[in-house]
Amino acid sequence: RVSVVLLTSDLRLHDHPPLCAALETADAVVPLFVMDRAVEAAGFAVPNRRAFLADCLADLDAALRQRGGRLVMRSGDLVEEVCRTVAQANADEVHMSAGYSLFAARREDRLRRALEAVGRRLFVHDTVTVAVPPGTVTPASSDHFAVFTPYYRRWAQHPLRPLAAAPRRIRVPNHVGGEPLPARSDVTGVSPGLPAGGETEGRKRVATYWRRGLDAYEDTRDDLAADSTSRLSCHLHFGTLSPVELLHRARRRGGPGADAFVRQLAWRDFHHQVLAARPEAAHADYRTRNDHWRTEHTARADIEAWRQGRTGYPVIDAAMRQLRYEGWMPNRARLLTASFLTKTLYVDWRIGAAHFLHWLVDGDVADNQLNWQWVAGTGTDTRPNRVLNPVAQAKRYDPDGGYVRRWVPELAGLAAPALHEPWKLPAPDRAALDYPDPVIALPDGLDRFRRARDRDH
Ligand code: FAD
Repeated sequence: RVSVVLLTSDLRLHDHPPLCAALETADAVVPLFVMDRAVEAAGFAVPNRRAFLADCLADLDAALRQRGGRLVMRSGDLVEEVCRTVAQANADEVHMSAGYSLFAARREDRLRRALEAVGRRLFVHDTVTVAVPPGTVTPASSDHFAVFTPYYRRWAQHPLRPLAAAPRRIRVPNHVGGEPLPARSDVTGVSPGLPAGGETEGRKRVATYWRRGLDAYEDTRDDLAADSTSRLSCHLHFGTLSPVELLHRARRRGGPGADAFVRQLAWRDFHHQVLAARPEAAHADYRTRNDHWRTEHTARADIEAWRQGRTGYPVIDAAMRQLRYEGWMPNRARLLTASFLTKTLYVDWRIGAAHFLHWLVDGDVADNQLNWQWVAGTGTDTRPNRVLNPVAQAKRYDPDGGYVRRWVPELAGLAAPALHEPWKLPAPDRAALDYPDPVIALPDGLDRFRRARDRDH
């Protein structure tokens, strides 16, 4: 008996329910990854994520080989490639993880029908890429929660499934062939500081973070210079780590750091249940409609300054440069730069979200689009009119200026708090800096959102 295990956003061997289920009933399995043409056509396969994915596939193949198996990779139309593999392997069933986007739901539907047409069954497993799947906890009056806090209360009470053991041996039928795996070195346009991908790296990172970071997480996570968050988002996005496993481990650890970390993991599930219920929220305003944003046509220079990290606001520029260099930013930096673009420059959140999705190694439709909507005030924030002051925030979250100095070398000679407001320096000092003037003055920028909104509505 043979089963195909279709791997998608679950590129690991530990805690992998579809793989365990397949191994329970089959003597041989085909671990299959399909480089889906549709993902590439949608523009989602950007260099940073392609490079990280190449690492993940190589690591998974090595882990499978250690257990007597190997990874089979194919490219093309996912449904056609799975059906071809099933025929070649003469497999009885296909196992995969559930995806919760509209794209994933449609793909799964097509696959199920194609397999049924040839008398094969598709088994879709929940709780692989999220801990509490969309639709599991719902309020009395709706199909999903629109506000985080009541969601979190229910989410936290939901029992976690037990962990699935990593397989020791895997037999892959010899005659099932695949294509060579992609190599990270073949991808161009990758951020120089992009982290390495793969389950092995992910597990190392967890071990280090559990030793050195987790207990202080609550106190330090917003400290920009300390760089003290887990940096596990890329591993959660590609599924090289299991959210269920992280939650079991964090709950076992306990204490304020682990509790705060658990709460952040709930935000992931929260956004996924919003997007699953309202797939149009990937592009359209979720709660409060705003048709009056400035756009590429009306704010081109401001948008370009923001993208390049040359707005004249040091903390914003530091964050935008980190994004390009590492393909990642801490949450506080994402909040500040997104608020600056939407609330201070009054630019459409979709423009910022697209830029983030181009660079972020953890770029995820649910987490990115809905966090952007949260900041822009069109989404699930219960205080949609809040505007973050980039100077006050910089003084609070980068009090010594270490973060700005790391990413904006033009200001490396300045001390805090002066480096957060270089336009206030005496004229000769200011003139000596090769650093732009602010694209917009404060408090003008802080009022802009409210004035524009009052005018437009
Ligand atoms: P930690 O602080 O260590 O948190 C642990 C984990 O909790 C993270 O790895 C992540 O999986 C989850 N988490 C934390 N905060 C959030 C949040 N607000 N929403 C959802 N999950 C969260 N996260 C993504 O994974 N992909 C994105 O595309 C993405 N885009 C974002 C865009 C904006 C404008 C904002 C404000 C936030 C975005 N986030 C996104 C959420 C968050 O910023 C990142 O998950 C976090 O910064 C990743 O770093 P970390 O792993 O060190 O997080």
